[in-house]
Amino acid sequence: MFEPERVAVVGGTDREGSIGRAIMENLLESFTGEVIPVHPYKPSILGVRAVASVGEIDPPADLGIVVVPAGVVGEVVAELADAGVRDVVVISGGFAETGDAGRQRQADLAAFAEARGLNLVGPNSLGIINTANGLNATFAQQTADSGSISLMSQSGAFITAVLDWAVERGLGFRHVVSLGNEAVLDEVDFVTAWRDDPETTVVLGYVEDIGRGERFVETAAATTRDTPIVVLKSGRSAAGARAAASHTGALAGSDRAYDAAFAQAGIIRADSVQELFDYGRVLAAQPPLGTDGVAIVSNAGGPAVLAADAVARGPLELAGFSDATRDALARVLPATATVANPLDIIGDADLERFEETLSLVVADEAVGGVVVMACPTALFDHADLAAVIGEVTDGYSEPVIGCLMGGQAAAAASRQLGAYGIPNFFDPVRAVDSMAVLGRYRRIRRRRPDPPVRFEVDDDRARRVLEEAVRAGRSQVGAEAMGLLDAYGIRVPAGEVVGTAEAAERVARRVGGPVVMKIVSPDIVHKTDIGGVRVGVDRSDVAGVFEELVELAASHDPGAEVLGVQVQELVAVEAGVETIAGMTRDAQFGPLVMFGLGGIFVEVFEDVAFRLAPFGPRTARAMTGELRAAPLLDGVRGRPSVDTGAVADLLQRVGQLVTRYPVIRELDINPLIAGPSGAIAVDFRATLDLDRAGDPAGDPVGAGG
Ligand code: ADP
Ligand code: MG
Repeated sequence: MFEPERVAVVGGTDREGSIGRAIMENLLESFTGEVIPVHPYKPSILGVRAVASVGEIDPPADLGIVVVPAGVVGEVVAELADAGVRDVVVISGGFAETGDAGRQRQADLAAFAEARGLNLVGPNSLGIINTANGLNATFAQQTADSGSISLMSQSGAFITAVLDWAVERGLGFRHVVSLGNEAVLDEVDFVTAWRDDPETTVVLGYVEDIGRGERFVETAAATTRDTPIVVLKSGRSAAGARAAASHTGALAGSDRAYDAAFAQAGIIRADSVQELFDYGRVLAAQPPLGTDGVAIVSNAGGPAVLAADAVARGPLELAGFSDATRDALARVLPATATVANPLDIIGDADLERFEETLSLVVADEAVGGVVVMACPTALFDHADLAAVIGEVTDGYSEPVIGCLMGGQAAAAASRQLGAYGIPNFFDPVRAVDSMAVLGRYRRIRRRRPDPPVRFEVDDDRARRVLEEAVRAGRSQVGAEAMGLLDAYGIRVPAGEVVGTAEAAERVARRVGGPVVMKIVSPDIVHKTDIGGVRVGVDRSDVAGVFEELVELAASHDPGAEVLGVQVQELVAVEAGVETIAGMTRDAQFGPLVMFGLGGIFVEVFEDVAFRLAPFGPRTARAMTGELRAAPLLDGVRGRPSVDTGAVADLLQRVGQLVTRYPVIRELDINPLIAGPSGAIAVDFRATLDLDRAGDPAGDPVGAGG
């Protein structure tokens, strides 16, 4: 698609102010191949010979650009396909973005393209660019400079703005694609293509939504080891907007799924347009950071401290210089300077001092990368300093980032540094953040796969529990379905759901000690709220409490279906930490498993970690480690540390369970009491997707792999 020799522009015209003309002009300006406008009656367009129909093009074109009214797009695409054109970009709008009729038109176009094996971009696309052969098949005002960044965007307008902005900053691109409505080709296809393109060193994306979430994660994960991907995803604020029946669902929102998906795929998420291009620029120009220890060299104390503060936020740290480096630095610096990192070579530094100190710093093995900072002074010209930095660090295998501050003075210096492939930033924080991304990318490259472990579980039992609920038409299950956890090797307190006071006494005797009793009803979701949980019931009170709980349920809601009373072993809650584990199924990315700090403040602190299931042991461990409350799990103020290995084991088992049974839509284990000798699921509830359950092939729980 990006390497055509002959491009047909159907709808190419010379009418002033039209998109068809803008595309013709852009193509004619720089494309090294042949441009063939297709026009019903004009013999030539902008001085180029036109043909009246696609069929007349001989030999056939290898790329078709379609800029005709929506109603005739289908016809034109069919003609292109008949003429042997495989690659098509549909610029025309009037499809899914315009309502039902447009949606139908787009579905028809997609079906046709699939049937004929067309690579189709759009519809409603701004077009595509390949800077290598000058192919600018867009109606943007600007084309791109050449470079090694390939950019995809779900917003065409974003591309026009970026191109205009990038030219001024010397930011170059390899391929640019406006994905449009993604009737056929989407971000998965372009990531796949760029993974195999040696000229693309960084992939940038602006996305609003990812349709094929699971495929995208797989494809990206297989790409990021060699080619970094940075994505700016809009719509963070939509998080949590969805009404959810579970805590996990309420905490998830769709944005958590994106965060988890990107993290698991090794995609670097940008939070602003500026970050997207800052990160893209450094990743394209500089190697990954060697170690997290960085050096800061500056002629100005204040900005150096700002940079050091940014480093202190982690994960970077200030490298400790070796004794040899320190001695040598002391010899070249004035007596008033302190040899330390950040290295303040003080305000009277001239080019020679920059050169000497910088040479010593880059030679130190402990330094994984250098941020060179300077404020303009009368002692040197910024652009000359840029040249010195470029020369000194030429051939240096670790990253160098410039922070030559200032306005006009810095503009020329930025260009000069750019010639050496060194990005320059005005703001020390941006310079350090960009360096940190190079550290993140090193870790992404070194990631080892973490395949899920397959636990031996009792699937017959799990299936029976689910089947029973589905047959009873219950979309909410609770204590009565706790066997599901037990079947999957998840520890639950001893106990049972019983229907009579006598049975309650029998279970209490078996369990021993004071017990916990809870009302069990699909119509009562928050048991504590109605007084439906009794903790520490003595054996002699069990029968009485049984009757009380049943009456309580009836007085709360006379129509409530009461399945019985759960008599449960009393767990020593004080010895552990109340946590929550759960799962919610994301429409794009599938099951999203959560772990977090539990208790009544769970939704206030939102101290939770999410991962897409299934995942392996290292991922599960990382979930317990990344909570802000992680020190609590490690044991603070004399408390014993929690068996996080047991928690990680449980999270993987939950992952296996929900991957196996798509009928489980949401699941909460709240609380999960995590203590020094294991984790125990005290309360359980799940939402079942009864629509997915009705499998006529006799698989009522829709069990997958
Ligand atoms: P719900 O969430 O519907 O109100 P839970 O079963 O989670 O009901 O019980 C509420 C609280 O009661 C728990 O957070 C926990 O503090 C306590 N609790 C419940 N079951 C036990 C148990 N078996 N041992 C000790 N404490 C329990
Ligand atoms: Mg609970």
